[in-house]
Amino acid sequence: MGKRIVCACEDVSEQDLAEAVRHGFRDVESAKRYTGFGTGFCQGKSCLAGIAHWLEREGGQPREGLAPFTPRPPVAPTAFASFAALDPEALGPPGPGVPPREELPAAPVRPDGPFPERCRVAIVGGGIMGLALAYELAKRGQRDVVVLEAGYLCAGASGRNGGGVRMQWGTPTNIRLARRSLEICRGFAAELGINVWLRQGGYLFLAASPEVARRLERSAELQRRHDVPTRLLTPDGAREIVPELDAAPFLLAAFNPKDAVVFPWPFLWGYAKGAAERGVRVETFTRAVGIEVERGRVRAVVTDRGRLACDVLVNAAGAWSPKVASLAGVRLPNEPHRHEILVSEPLKPFLGPLVSVLDDGLYFSQSMRGEIVGGMGDPKDPAGLESGATLRFLARFSRAFLRTLPGLGALQVIRQWAGCYDVTPDNSPILGETPGVAGFLQMSGFVGHGFMMAPAVAELMASWMAGGERDEIFDRFTLSRFAEGRLEREDFIIG
Ligand SMILES: Cc1cc2nc3c(=O)[nH]c(=O)nc-3n(C[C@H](O)[C@H](O)[C@H](O)COP(=O)(O)OP(=O)(O)OC[C@H]3O[C@@H](n4cnc5c(N)ncnc54)[C@H](O)[C@@H]3O)c2cc1C
Repeated sequence: MGKRIVCACEDVSEQDLAEAVRHGFRDVESAKRYTGFGTGFCQGKSCLAGIAHWLEREGGQPREGLAPFTPRPPVAPTAFASFAALDPEALGPPGPGVPPREELPAAPVRPDGPFPERCRVAIVGGGIMGLALAYELAKRGQRDVVVLEAGYLCAGASGRNGGGVRMQWGTPTNIRLARRSLEICRGFAAELGINVWLRQGGYLFLAASPEVARRLERSAELQRRHDVPTRLLTPDGAREIVPELDAAPFLLAAFNPKDAVVFPWPFLWGYAKGAAERGVRVETFTRAVGIEVERGRVRAVVTDRGRLACDVLVNAAGAWSPKVASLAGVRLPNEPHRHEILVSEPLKPFLGPLVSVLDDGLYFSQSMRGEIVGGMGDPKDPAGLESGATLRFLARFSRAFLRTLPGLGALQVIRQWAGCYDVTPDNSPILGETPGVAGFLQMSGFVGHGFMMAPAVAELMASWMAGGERDEIFDRFTLSRFAEGRLEREDFIIG
């Protein structure tokens, strides 16, 4: 049969859609991510209606109540130079931006079979943390596990991030975890049978101020003591790695050639499939709405599809973790903060490393498809579960980006989006037991680096939960540390 194109921008065919459905991606958002339809120049304007029709006909998501994709700015591809000409401060403080539409369909397609009534371990959140933990538990023979995910896989920060994986960190613990995660990333395709597009082009950190330069020096020394081959470079030395760089604004650079970038989505699909093949149930479009606690112990999690009794409940709901914890009367100190990101049209491969300017939180890399993918935090953005896309971000990012690579003014931005960082008071996660609620485990607070920490942390957590060794991270990153006034500060944070 000939190839029948359904999305001309991204060259997606009916055969690709059929493949998505065969792998269980039967709702529009999942099929979009699996095939790439709707992620190109027209952002789904020409193909969504036809594809929704096709999916319904083939037993996928009904079209009833289906809204068009969020019209994410820019409406048409627009040059970085145009956005850089705008004064971000004149645009005012960060507002809600273009709000994402309600991403949950009116008639969701859920996994086949009845909703389970009990399990040993229930995990709230089907992001990288929850899915990696479920897989690692199943690998250790703990198969009576159910993952509850309110949306589709990739709905949270794990489906919206920049895919950076680095060993350049400011504490021995984070260096150790990142090193192990990178090892797992390297073996992921072989173990789970899916390509994660790992590219070890390094991370090039740039410092524009003496204070940040000192931070680079301190952490590079620590990293070298822990066998990370980080080199400090003069600005001219940095230009040898990125010849397009304008070195003038910078004082110092740090480069580790082993750091990497991955494509995040296949990680979630790989972990979910690996877990499901070992007996775990991954219940998408299923929201936890209550937690039953009896005599100081978790008994069940209540969902919008029914009650699930469990011995252990893990809160892996990322930026929503405080909300989930509050269902059990537990207060977490995490705060959600919007983090915006964008993608450009593709260029021939020219950029080896992920480049980050620590002073203002700018970072960007070139994907395997040639696009520039980059983001930047906004210190003026207030806390909140906000994920609208703003013009202010486009202006701020474009200015900072062109200060670094001035030759790319004509390159066009295709799309922007946002997710939430899950921020704790000391930029370190919250892991392990919850004081006063036995059987309720926390696995959240990974700020802007949870993707790269998840493989290693999930492995350690599963091993401990399955009766193995208790790693020091479960004593270091406790929830109780905040009440004890014992913070575990990490200041090597981007954004
Ligand atoms: C724009 C951006 C760029 C980033 N870049 C990087 C990077 O380069 N490298 C890196 O390592 N990290 C990066 N991060 C951070 C990283 O994405 C997160 O730390 C990580 O994905 C967190 O994973 P998680 O599983 O804890 O949370 P999530 O992926 O957010 O998953 C939580 C899930 O819980 C679900 N949920 C919420 N409430 C409920 C409920 N009541 N019932 C059931 N399910 C519920 C949500 O739908 C969601 O899918 C970035 C983040 C953003 C936003």
